[in-house]
Amino acid sequence: MSEETLLGGDQEKFEFFLKEDKYRELLSSMALEGKTSLTIDFQDLYAYDSELAEKLLEKPEEMLQHFKHAAMAQLFIEDPDYAEKIKEVNIHVRNLYEYTPLREIGAKQIGKLIMIKGIVTKVTVPRPKITRACFECQRCGERQFVIQTSNILRLPVECIHCGKKGPFALVVEESDKINTQEIWLQETPEELPPGQLPTNIRVNVYDDLVNKAMPGDNVAVTAIVSANVRKSRGTKLSTCNITLEANHIELLGKEPETIPTLEEISKIRDLAKDPFIHKKVIDSIAPSIQGYEDVKEGIMYLLFGGVEKRHEDIRIRGDINILLVGDPGVAKTQLLKYVASISPRGLYTSGKGATGVGLTAAVTRSKDTGEMTLEAGALVLADKGVACIDEIDKMRDTDRETIHEALEQQTVSIAKGGIVATLNARTAVLAAANPLLGRYDPYKTMAENINLPVTLLSRFDLIFVMRDIPDAEADERLADHLLRLHSGIGRQPPIPPDLLKKYIAYAKTIKPKMTEEATKRLKDFYLSVRKKVYELPNSPISITPRQLESLVRIAEARARVALRKEVTAEDAEAAILIMIKSLRQLGIDLTSESPDIDSLLTGKPKAMRDKMATIIKLIVEGQREMGMVEEKWLLEQLENAYGISKAEAQRLIAQLMREGAIFQPREGFLKKT
Ligand SMILES: [Zn+2]
Repeated sequence: MSEETLLGGDQEKFEFFLKEDKYRELLSSMALEGKTSLTIDFQDLYAYDSELAEKLLEKPEEMLQHFKHAAMAQLFIEDPDYAEKIKEVNIHVRNLYEYTPLREIGAKQIGKLIMIKGIVTKVTVPRPKITRACFECQRCGERQFVIQTSNILRLPVECIHCGKKGPFALVVEESDKINTQEIWLQETPEELPPGQLPTNIRVNVYDDLVNKAMPGDNVAVTAIVSANVRKSRGTKLSTCNITLEANHIELLGKEPETIPTLEEISKIRDLAKDPFIHKKVIDSIAPSIQGYEDVKEGIMYLLFGGVEKRHEDIRIRGDINILLVGDPGVAKTQLLKYVASISPRGLYTSGKGATGVGLTAAVTRSKDTGEMTLEAGALVLADKGVACIDEIDKMRDTDRETIHEALEQQTVSIAKGGIVATLNARTAVLAAANPLLGRYDPYKTMAENINLPVTLLSRFDLIFVMRDIPDAEADERLADHLLRLHSGIGRQPPIPPDLLKKYIAYAKTIKPKMTEEATKRLKDFYLSVRKKVYELPNSPISITPRQLESLVRIAEARARVALRKEVTAEDAEAAILIMIKSLRQLGIDLTSESPDIDSLLTGKPKAMRDKMATIIKLIVEGQREMGMVEEKWLLEQLENAYGISKAEAQRLIAQLMREGAIFQPREGFLKKT
């Protein structure tokens, strides 16, 4: 008798393990849920038999076979009909004791079962893979099966009927297939050593794990590390490529991993009691950058965020978006990088798209395999965090089309190359843009100053102009500040960055509610501005519900900073004040007689806007009947029915095209975007 039989084989050990109530129940409910796999908690197995569990980590290929057979045997006891039907049970193992950092995967792990975590950056279109190929002999018509284990199709050696060496034809319909997909994981910011670029790793995914994870998801993956010998011009090299074969995928939450300890929580609570806590937080944001108090106050609101609201099918974002427009050399980039470093799930990127993917998402064809892949851009990767986008005015055209949706609905929809998907982009955006002509011109409107459409500008809750204005007093302060920095004294932030990061994470768990008083303040302010506008003859509606939503978000964020569950009148006042300041920098004075936000953002007087509205109306009506509108016809209509001269109409049409409101589907025709 062999030792194996004496001690009981591994399969038997697994069978005994599966007789525990938890797994018997799981097995017997498989049919009901239409499942073909059983998920095992590794820690259950370890508690049951640590030696067996260790062996599973060491020799996963072999041990999983035993485990599968054991599961099948047990399923025959629990539910013989279903066992007969599915013929095979897959075993997924979750919850190993530790994660292997992505950058440590190497020779030591080959052949082992490991658990890794990361952010999914891209996925390929799923495709079926033949696992057992059916071949038909072209001489006698006999069919036979060949099990396929690699990527190269294995043919039968000879016909089992006539003995000839083919030719054989593959019968795809009769072959056994499973779905496969490749996904790429990127190191999470928490695992990333400071100053290093994140590591990426490819994982092969099969069967019921296909499409389980989408770009932007945070996942824990159990996988077997395998190695293929590399090839160079037909010769095999002695170095290997490592690939991971997924065994289980689990979606992780996106809650920040910077969870404060009990001691830190009490420190945070003490800080929050300070009546000047807001000032303290503002002073702790990028302390090496002098001045810009209003900008930093805005950033504080962005970091803490408002409360997301869901009413049936409507969702109002709680995230606050801020745009910084400024002269070169005003520390915008440092500010952005600082914010990315202290926000949970913070990410810094440039609109120019150094990563090659851009801001939203892209469908690309892989160079080596030719497969279509869906890749996440910055806004998707920063889901539930903060995306800091430098030089947003230089973003690509593909991003210009999708960024509106990303900023307002906080999703990115893709329908291209056989891929149809909606990815989450629930992120606060801190963006920076350079003025079109090098320096910000206060005598021009915002739209004239930067290369961004007005429709996009309106997605930002606050816009700040950071100007490098010569100012003797400020210069002296800056000089002193720089000298202090160089002498190594520096300015110590009242709250150290590490603690601030935890403070933010902790504060975000609070969902402050508007008090009656706060609601009244915001409503009064909103109505008074609207009223001023209405009282003017022919006045455009210039303050929109969008700005009211922004005010609510900012007030909520301010309450969060003080860890309050209620939004007070003081919070509302502060929100109004920062909004007025932000608008005033754009040349809009809400305290003046005729605040006209549209006109100042767009630089268009009402008459001009009316004409543009007429053009769009005609295009929409026309394209309903004809799909698109002939420009010649449009110009005639405008001249005859509305008295707009051809020259003026052409100018307005060109302007609308620049703003992205309409486009030319082909020469001489127009369509609304
Ligand atoms: Zn034959």
